[in-house]
Amino acid sequence: MATAATEIRALTASAFRAPQKFVDFCRNDGKPLRGLVGGKELAGTMNVTFETIDPGTQEVLATVCEMGDAEVDLAVEAAQRAFVGNGKNGWRDLAVEARIALCMKLVELCERDRDVLLACEILDGGKVSELAEGDFGTIRDCAEYFAGVARRIPLGDSDSMKVAEGIRGFTYREPWGVVAGIIPWNYPIVLTAWFMFPALLSGNTILIKPAEDTPLSALYIGKLAEEAGFPAGVINVLPGRGEITGQAIAEHPGVKYISFTGSPGVGQAILRTCDRNGTRMKREMGGNGAAIVLGDADPEVVARMIGRFANQHFGQTCCTIHRIYVDKKIADDFIAAEKNFFENLKIGYQAEAGTQLGAVINATQRQRILKAERDTLARGGKAIVAGGDAEVAGKRGFYLKPSLYRTEPGLNVNPEEVFHTYATICPVSSEEEAMRLANSSPYGLGASVWTKDIDRGIALAKKFRDGTCQVNCHNTIAYGLPYGGQGISGGPGAGVNCEDTFRDYTQVKAVYVAEYPE
Ligand code: NAD
Repeated sequence: MATAATEIRALTASAFRAPQKFVDFCRNDGKPLRGLVGGKELAGTMNVTFETIDPGTQEVLATVCEMGDAEVDLAVEAAQRAFVGNGKNGWRDLAVEARIALCMKLVELCERDRDVLLACEILDGGKVSELAEGDFGTIRDCAEYFAGVARRIPLGDSDSMKVAEGIRGFTYREPWGVVAGIIPWNYPIVLTAWFMFPALLSGNTILIKPAEDTPLSALYIGKLAEEAGFPAGVINVLPGRGEITGQAIAEHPGVKYISFTGSPGVGQAILRTCDRNGTRMKREMGGNGAAIVLGDADPEVVARMIGRFANQHFGQTCCTIHRIYVDKKIADDFIAAEKNFFENLKIGYQAEAGTQLGAVINATQRQRILKAERDTLARGGKAIVAGGDAEVAGKRGFYLKPSLYRTEPGLNVNPEEVFHTYATICPVSSEEEAMRLANSSPYGLGASVWTKDIDRGIALAKKFRDGTCQVNCHNTIAYGLPYGGQGISGGPGAGVNCEDTFRDYTQVKAVYVAEYPE
């Protein structure tokens, strides 16, 4: 049965209060939270700390020690020791069921402390509970999916084949060794899980480098991993700034593989650094998602659906919609409905019931978004909903209004990812024109077509130059289907959440064996 337009609403907050366990974790007996290296907590030889705040209030939640070159060295050593074993079996030698059992134990502990991890996501990450709760579910879903994959994809020798008279060959698949995950701030739990489970289950030992804005969930998961019984050094957590801790990881020759999620500029720079040591890398990067609305679509329903996705995590979602191309025939009605949706988003504190649009993550993002709004107007965009700063009574967060612009073909008003509830609407005369404009972006992460004609939608969706193409939905992600980017949004690597992701965390050698000559 079709959903009534009025029932389609933005993701919304329930009231949330931090549990005492989260408060105690952050307070840490008055000491800064330390990095987790080789089963020990390290303050770091640089003696540098940074504060992580609630973006909705600017209240300091915790002080965290930054890890530098020395700690990255120690972490790589510890992870390498754990990988090969210390006179006994290393992580790489464990039976797959033993690795699965430890990962599932970690999942259970995360579920035991669900409220602490929700507090990390809601208070440190600035999310509304409806989204944070969905994100939390990723932990189990991802672990179970990759446990299944680990059982299906054997490591070690393949069947051998005869390659010439007296010579046979086979492949040997093995984990890389020490693998690092460099994580952005917008989906800390989801992206830690997406990295951690396939990397561990394929036999690697890991370094997790959380974003400086949202380090709490990875630090907490690191503690739970110790409680779960992971051998020391299998999971290491290295908080710090990108240019310090991240850079030290990217430059370290002992790191054999890096999974990076973040912005294209940083991903491009890390790839160049990695290449100097032959460190392999997979990259999942930003987007500037397009939606094409065909003339047969109901403008009211589709405007609300698109508004819901465009506002997911206040537009701070990599694949979400920022560019809308709508058939001229329905453009006026569509624009009126989208304006109504954007204007009625409830701006507020993310942990207060009813909030749909909370603060952006930090002061730099606020500046970037305000600049993007000015640039859009300077390039010829016409404001439908003017953005700018917003006030929330009693809160000192980085609050901004949503913004929506009308544009026309030929005006490139929205060339870069603007990480907010920000979108441009361009009325178009044909599907071909819409597709040409949608594909004119260098990004290629997620795009969608909206139509009652499913076959037409599928045919069009396949023409997007994007890693994820959707019909009548957007931001949908499922285990078993790759989620990766084309253009500057991703690669090399197969994307995440599919069997090839697991293979990305392994290397394959060809082994040839000839009879010894008589
Ligand atoms: P970012 O690129 O600034 O930072 C990402 C991570 O890289 C952080 O941990 C940061 O500390 C680290 N880093 C920064 N400079 C570094 C350096 N020189 N060497 C090593 N590490 C370094 O991105 P962000 O602002 O944290 O996140 C937002 C971006 O991430 C957006 O572009 C968004 O679209 C993208 N993203 C993509 C996906 C995806 O799956 N494709 C998912 C989430 C976010």
